[in-house]
Amino acid sequence: MISVDEALRLVLKHADPLAAVRTPVGMSLGCILAENATSDLDSPPWDKSMVDGYAIRAADLATGMAELTVQEEVVAGAVPTLVVPPGATTRIMTGAPIPEGAEAMVMVERTELLANDCVRIEDAPPKPGQNILRRGSSFRRGEVIVPARTMIGPVHIGLLCEVGCAEPLVTPRPRVAILSTGNELVGAAEEPRPGQIRNSNGPMLAALVSKVDATPHELGVARDELDDLRRLIAAGLESDVLVLSGGVSAGVLDLVPIVLTELGVERVFHKVSMKPGKPLWFGVRQKEDRHTLVFGLPGNPVSSLVGFELFVRPAVERMAGRDVTPHPTFRAQIGEGKFHQRGDRTTYYPAVRQPAEKGEANQPSIRLLSWHGSADLRTLAEANLLAIFPPGDREYAGGDTVDVLPI
Ligand code: AMP
Ligand code: MG
Repeated sequence: MISVDEALRLVLKHADPLAAVRTPVGMSLGCILAENATSDLDSPPWDKSMVDGYAIRAADLATGMAELTVQEEVVAGAVPTLVVPPGATTRIMTGAPIPEGAEAMVMVERTELLANDCVRIEDAPPKPGQNILRRGSSFRRGEVIVPARTMIGPVHIGLLCEVGCAEPLVTPRPRVAILSTGNELVGAAEEPRPGQIRNSNGPMLAALVSKVDATPHELGVARDELDDLRRLIAAGLESDVLVLSGGVSAGVLDLVPIVLTELGVERVFHKVSMKPGKPLWFGVRQKEDRHTLVFGLPGNPVSSLVGFELFVRPAVERMAGRDVTPHPTFRAQIGEGKFHQRGDRTTYYPAVRQPAEKGEANQPSIRLLSWHGSADLRTLAEANLLAIFPPGDREYAGGDTVDVLPI
């Protein structure tokens, strides 16, 4: 049986960034930009007014008081048609272009409109350029505005729109199909009959996929029958990643590996030296130019969750072109709780980070939760970390230091 590290290495070996595609900018949130985005214009594109008010020659207000003829009004979307001569002014709305001849903007609040298109201004003598944002002061046409490899956030979307990048070239979000397997499974809205349980994993895995900024595609539940599995697994193989839950252990109805192999998925490993989640299956299928990673996670919900965190998440992040640490573990001290580690598998144990005590700048402290094993999802709802206990026979208690993985 291979170690978690070796399994992760094999998974990442098969998880290359997806080929970049042009995507409508409004759908690119969370994607990695695959080329520099440059501007097709200066920003601002003209000398623009930063206020609603009057464009004037500075000399006209040298005394701090003036009465000027309003010769024109420029609203948003319009352009000035007249040069501002001495003794005259153009009324301008915020953002509109400054007319030739004018050197400063006076805020409308400092003015009073008199009869006969005349405005009275009382304000300090203006400095040239007052309340004017000069053309190109943010950036120039041809400049790189968002560099390649940036993860696109809401502000980048606004910026890409500003510079006319309507379809940026991005590494697309991986599409992840999710298939729950098991004769015993019914939907969350159903009343389970004896022997039945509700399907936790399908919706939970779909939510985990959404949280890594990939696109989940839930295929529902496959019965533990070859035909049903064939049909739904074949559909899942149309995605970049297929995540199955259940059916990979040693039971008589654990048919998933058989069907995967039959459908051309090449097994890379089956079983990892970890607890929970040992029966995890991983393989790849290459068909024409579609490369699909397939994860068969054991059905117990916590096993599915841990398998996702350890292997599916890093793979999806790599495929999305992100450059992140696959397992961002750190050292922490056990503050409360204890655990007896036994055996040759690494244990991933739910824990919660404790608030730092005032005045202490030492290692983070964690509390080990009281956990009932791989079917106990409720305890996981409280956890925000997995404490990692290496193989061996050892009691861990308060004061001991361990590696932890945030979840
Ligand atoms: P399996 O890996 O198929 O042997 O399933 C192991 C355990 O997990 C069994 O008790 C299943 O009933 C349970 N299980 C399997 N799939 C799910 C699921 N989608 N939601 C909740 N529990 C499940
Ligand atoms: Mg099963």
